[in-house]
Amino acid sequence: MMNKLKQGNALKNLDKRSSWIFLLIGLVILLFSIANWYYELKPRLENESIMNIQIMSASRAKAIESQFQNVQGQFDYSIIYNSINELLLLNEPSTGQNLYFGVELEVDYDALPFDSKALNIYAGNTKCEQCIKTENPIYNRANGELLAIIKIYSNPFFYQRLINDVGNQLSIVIAGVLLILLVAWYLTESLFKRLNQREKSLTHEILERKNVEKRLHKIATYDQLTNLPNRYLLHMEFNRKIEEAQRNDHMLAVLFFDLDHFKTINDIYGHEIGDILLQQVAQRITGLVRSYDLFSRFGGDEFVMIMPNLDGAVDVFSVVEKIIESFDQEFNLGEAVVQVTTSIGISVFPQDGSDASSLLKNADLAMYRAKSEGRNGYNFFTQNMNKDLQRSQWIESNLKKAINENQLKLYFQPQLEIESGNINSCEALLRWPQEDGSFIEPTEFIPIAERSGLINDVGNWIFDAACSYQKQWTKRGLKPVRIDINLSGKDFLGNKVVYHLIEYIAKNKKLANKIGIEITENILLDSNEQVINLLTELHQSKVHISIDDFGTGYSSMNYLKHFPVSCIKIDQGFVREAPNSRQDQIIMRAITTIGHGLGMTVTAEGVETLEHYQLIEEIGCDLIQGYYISRPLTAEHFEEQYLLNTSDMKKPVTRQDSRSDTGQVSK
Ligand code: C2E
Ligand code: CA
Ligand code: CA
Repeated sequence: MMNKLKQGNALKNLDKRSSWIFLLIGLVILLFSIANWYYELKPRLENESIMNIQIMSASRAKAIESQFQNVQGQFDYSIIYNSINELLLLNEPSTGQNLYFGVELEVDYDALPFDSKALNIYAGNTKCEQCIKTENPIYNRANGELLAIIKIYSNPFFYQRLINDVGNQLSIVIAGVLLILLVAWYLTESLFKRLNQREKSLTHEILERKNVEKRLHKIATYDQLTNLPNRYLLHMEFNRKIEEAQRNDHMLAVLFFDLDHFKTINDIYGHEIGDILLQQVAQRITGLVRSYDLFSRFGGDEFVMIMPNLDGAVDVFSVVEKIIESFDQEFNLGEAVVQVTTSIGISVFPQDGSDASSLLKNADLAMYRAKSEGRNGYNFFTQNMNKDLQRSQWIESNLKKAINENQLKLYFQPQLEIESGNINSCEALLRWPQEDGSFIEPTEFIPIAERSGLINDVGNWIFDAACSYQKQWTKRGLKPVRIDINLSGKDFLGNKVVYHLIEYIAKNKKLANKIGIEITENILLDSNEQVINLLTELHQSKVHISIDDFGTGYSSMNYLKHFPVSCIKIDQGFVREAPNSRQDQIIMRAITTIGHGLGMTVTAEGVETLEHYQLIEEIGCDLIQGYYISRPLTAEHFEEQYLLNTSDMKKPVTRQDSRSDTGQVSK
């Protein structure tokens, strides 16, 4: 394009020069014509006219002479006189101008036979310097004696005027030509000027458009926040790099990054700080990559790096470890200094996929695995992950149907008071029975429901089911036992489930104190004012609130005093290990003391053995839940064993999960 512009400029300059050359040549021709007129044409015309006059005058004189000769011997000068007069009267027919200015007759007075005074044929202005004169001698034929000389003066003005006329005509023609030249020059000049302007504005327009195109291209292909290539550019480059790797028989790795707990940082410090963090992460990782690696922002807190030209997957290790290590250093975000980690999933071409989308999908899958394995690490994709993916896709597409068709089931696990042995409440646990009699575990489908957004439907279903059981039990006069349902953090995010719960209980006052919720510490940790308000409202609606799996999350004693929590459930992990672990016992004692100190009840989950039970009793927990007492039971078994009887502990403990009632346990 620039070359074309340069060519255009050269042409334009040439055109401009040629317009001046054209004018100059015109002027030179003009000057040449004028000079030619003055120095060549005009003198020639004048000469020719003089010659003409002379010839004409000579022929006139000859005519007079011949007339004179006709009267030869008589010397009748009156004839000459008349001829001359005739000559003098000779006019140019178109203008009527005299051709002859005057005639002079010189005679030999001595030869005159009469008084010379009679011969007064002098006429015109003989003094005229420019008068063209021609002389003709008249001889006496008889003796050859010179009788007279006729001098004819031609009118020079007549020819002069003719020459002038030609000159004037020529001037007019020259002036016309000059004018045409000037007009042509002016027109071409202004045309060039206009062309020039048009070209200038066109050039400007083209440059402007090129700039806009460049800017648009940048916006379309680069992430505005981090200045990294965006997802679109990544896809374009990705295929090219795969082709290259194929050609050169090289490996290529795809690294899929996701920052851990980025949402928490956004929630705590605000989006602006979150943006600064993303910029700094982008900068930090960019500093670690090789020049031919492609590091891009995939969206949100996700980044993707393509590493071409690898000889083996081993080459990836050092880079990935360097990246993970680089996160050891804190990020100074101005208002806050934070420590962030990242989880990375890796897929390798060609074994993990032959095209961009499958490699990306598999790296993403491996990243999810890294997250579920505790974050702050990396994971290579394996084919098993693909099977898991297919399984979770199946679950995702069938769970909705299962909810709508009421295929899910609530199982109930009792929570007993250690002191009295009586049932205090029960935990509702979800089961998804399959046609072949097996079950899909909640630990498998709940995280999928959380990811796919189906968790709110699940939450609503459990709540409706729990309420419906409560109504039935009341109607049938069974023991009024509270049902605690598990709520996911996502149920609080969407708010829908919690609002539904609050509204429903407000309308059905009989359900007060009959429904409880179990939430994990993370909900409280990620909480904002809205979550606090919701919990407060739930508490006011007489919904019992327990903190589940206490001690596994980011246990912060601080939230215990801010939230209206009634019960702490010590995580099963502590209970399981407690008989052999002094540390776990100490932690459980501490949790129990804190809970009691804050006026809460303390439940020990996962109590499987008599040893567990005795330890829990000794530590001083209030409630007990676990296989030692009962596995989760179907509604019928639970009603039969706990809602119809009074002395629950004394009853034989159901040692088998009621899932085994069906003869099969899933997995
Ligand atoms: P969780 O809330 O900690 O539930 C207790 C889990 O421990 C249950 O597993 C229960 O069957 C199991 N359990 C009870 N006593 C013992 C014991 O003595 N030993 C051992 N090893 N395990 C015991 P389950 O039913 O498979 O549920 C697993 C998790 O799935 C639950 O953990 C909970 O986080 C989630 N979940 C279950 N039902 C629901 C639900 O309705 N909604 C939500 N959001 N999550 C649910
Ligand atoms: Ca629970
Ligand atoms: Ca639990």
